[in-house]
Amino acid sequence: RMPVRLAAGCMALLALLLAGLVVSLQSTGRRAAALAAKKTKELETALVAADAANRAKSEFLANMSHEIRTPMNGVLGMTSLLLETPLDQEQQEFAETALRSGQSLLGILNDILDFSKIEAGKLDILLEPFDLHAVVGDVASLMTPAAAQKGLRFDPRISPDVPKTVVGDALRVRQVLLNLAGNAVKFTSQGHVAIKADCVERTDEHAVVHLVVEDTGIGIAEDVQKTMFDKFTQADSSITRRFGGTGLGLAISKQLVDLMGGKLGVKSSPGAGAEFWFTLSFGLPKAPKTKENSKSALKDLQAQISS
Ligand code: ADP
Repeated sequence: RMPVRLAAGCMALLALLLAGLVVSLQSTGRRAAALAAKKTKELETALVAADAANRAKSEFLANMSHEIRTPMNGVLGMTSLLLETPLDQEQQEFAETALRSGQSLLGILNDILDFSKIEAGKLDILLEPFDLHAVVGDVASLMTPAAAQKGLRFDPRISPDVPKTVVGDALRVRQVLLNLAGNAVKFTSQGHVAIKADCVERTDEHAVVHLVVEDTGIGIAEDVQKTMFDKFTQADSSITRRFGGTGLGLAISKQLVDLMGGKLGVKSSPGAGAEFWFTLSFGLPKAPKTKENSKSALKDLQAQISS
């Protein structure tokens, strides 16, 4: 009989111990969960504070850049006027150098302004109908003199299936193209620079357009390609010394394309030129059924059939 009682006693003791263990585990678990929740809350607060600080910094930069731009435009305007007055050759050269330096400073300021606006989440993308062919043509005519000065050909090639009128942000598309084309001319000493536009997908409501800026310049090493879209990054300091620049152009271009819902990338190897591409999906304007429109739709159709 005794062993049975003993066994029962042991069992009871064991059950008690187990129950104690479970209770203690539960309370440890609760404590751990409470601690985790507290730490998560602390982290969230820290993250919000860091985000706010970053935004404040970007806002400050945006405001500052704006304040600096206004007097800068005064300096540039006055220097241009000065250049129209009678000057001797030396004075003329000094004033021209002042103008060029001012223009390049303004370019840098504009980059910083744009970049800080993007970081502060204050850059809005417009959705308005515009002529995409004209934007590409404009960039080409702006870049042609600089290319010609270096003995480079500059070819814009817009394939006829790219719709003329699209809905998007003309200014920002132009800015990205100018940035990429500017780099292409800057880093190419012989051969050509080309801008190409192709339509890769089209429905009644939208068109996906693939834009490429291609050059026959110095090219970019693979490891550099990975970081070159980060802000203030340049391929290497010797190249920077040779070519100048802030290292903001590509970071801005990438962010602008991101904001427009597109993708931007590069294909290149050292010595073999570079091909920067970006793809954007544009809305297409709804054509109200007027006589004029059906006439131009008919023309479009004829153009498409014959191309
Ligand atoms: P930057 O104002 O210095 O040109 P970017 O952001 O536009 O700044 O470019 C960053 C770096 O990427 C450049 O300094 C250059 O090293 C490299 N890069 C950009 N475009 C080209 C190109 N077409 N060919 C060769 N290198 C390029």
